[in-house]
Amino acid sequence: MKNYYEATANNHRNHSTLISSVKTDICVVGAGFTGLGCALELRLRGYNVVVLEAQNVGYGASGRSGGQIASGYSSGMIETSDIVGLSDSKKLWAFSERSKQILRNRIETYGISCDLQVGEYYAAPKERHLSWLKEEQAFCETHYNYDGYEWAGKTRMREVLAGDRYLGALYDREGGHLHPLNYTLGLADAFTKLGGRIYENSSVVNYTDEGIIHVNTTNGRVCAKTLVLAGNAYLSGVERFLQRRMIPAKSSQIATEPLGAERAKALMNTSACVADTNFDLDYFKMTSDTRLVYGGQDISFRRSSSNNSPIRKNMLKTFPMLTDVKIEFLWEGLVAANARRLPDVGRIGNNVYYAHGYSGQGVCLSAVVSEILAEAICGELEHFEVFNRIPHITFPANKLVQTPLYYTMMLWQRLKDALP
Ligand SMILES: Cc1cc2nc3c(=O)[nH]c(=O)nc-3n(C[C@H](O)[C@H](O)[C@H](O)COP(=O)(O)OP(=O)(O)OC[C@H]3O[C@@H](n4cnc5c(N)ncnc54)[C@H](O)[C@@H]3O)c2cc1C
Repeated sequence: MKNYYEATANNHRNHSTLISSVKTDICVVGAGFTGLGCALELRLRGYNVVVLEAQNVGYGASGRSGGQIASGYSSGMIETSDIVGLSDSKKLWAFSERSKQILRNRIETYGISCDLQVGEYYAAPKERHLSWLKEEQAFCETHYNYDGYEWAGKTRMREVLAGDRYLGALYDREGGHLHPLNYTLGLADAFTKLGGRIYENSSVVNYTDEGIIHVNTTNGRVCAKTLVLAGNAYLSGVERFLQRRMIPAKSSQIATEPLGAERAKALMNTSACVADTNFDLDYFKMTSDTRLVYGGQDISFRRSSSNNSPIRKNMLKTFPMLTDVKIEFLWEGLVAANARRLPDVGRIGNNVYYAHGYSGQGVCLSAVVSEILAEAICGELEHFEVFNRIPHITFPANKLVQTPLYYTMMLWQRLKDALP
């Protein structure tokens, strides 16, 4: 069954499978925001670029995400500053600002029709989260001169959302949301119109780097000078070094039947999206065809149906008045999570670059990361080094250790979320 975004995707072209051996300057693995963004930037700089995609464009997190655009980083800026120091945190903040600009420029320049909407509420379900949000706002205003945040108290939350789950929120005027698959398809279209090549259903099995890089797919091979690994949580066994640097975490979403304009407005009197401040967060938005799309981390082992999905239960916690509403779509995807909740951007040897681990905030951040990867490949390393020196924490690559570690951590976080 198609997910909501596949069911509402713009017309697009399919790409052939690689069944021969091709030569190129740069080979990119993964046709998501990062891979396609980087491929586009490199093509604009005159390189020959081939993108290899195991499934189809947007198959990974990019095409199935919540599409929410947020300022800053998943860890929050106070924590980011604790990790990298204030000086580098200012650079990271400037990147995230640039990212919003790149995203909007791409949509405008390439005429990508992806239902871009403005505004994001970062909403607190707990009293103690309110003070943390206020501290974040003050921190961003003081250290980064950010004036895009606006405080939304309880009264405003009651005007904007039905139900009384959220006690207040930080409203980000520069946040927003989009149709993530249509944005991804638009990037692919822009790249191929500039002469770039994409091969779909062309899974990379392994690669060798002996000066020239040979990238082997199930039925073909690409020889390139430079390789970009942008397979994110879906890359699995291709590069063991990366398996130690992030854990694939399941996030699921549901989309309701169309609610009709009146009911949709009574539920969410805003075109902005909402993400909450729990570690195990809920995120949601109303689509232009009046469906509520609601998502969250999903640590259940069993396959759920739309009716017994834990995400539906979460939705009813926020909007108890929706018990009668049919869930028409349920889908899941993998988020690349790491302990720092900051993007992991780096290089293996001299010619293999990678970026992953946005920890749930890659819709926006992937734009600047893709630009920074392209700069680095062209020899401009200043911005790349800022990401490269983030002190990431590694995990055991073995799934038998990684999976219980992740579940223990999530259960612990859930316990903390449950505290008043
Ligand atoms: C359900 C869900 C909701 C999310 N919601 C949000 C949100 O609202 N806001 C936000 O900022 N972030 C969100 N995220 C995270 C965000 O979607 C990601 O950070 C972002 O899409 C990462 O893009 P990417 O291009 O790096 O990776 P991906 O989009 O995952 O792309 C990787 C691609 O590489 C391909 N690939 C992997 N291995 C191989 C191989 N061996 N050979 C060839 N191809 C390969 C995959 O098939 C895939 O298409 C969400 C993620 C999920 C799963």
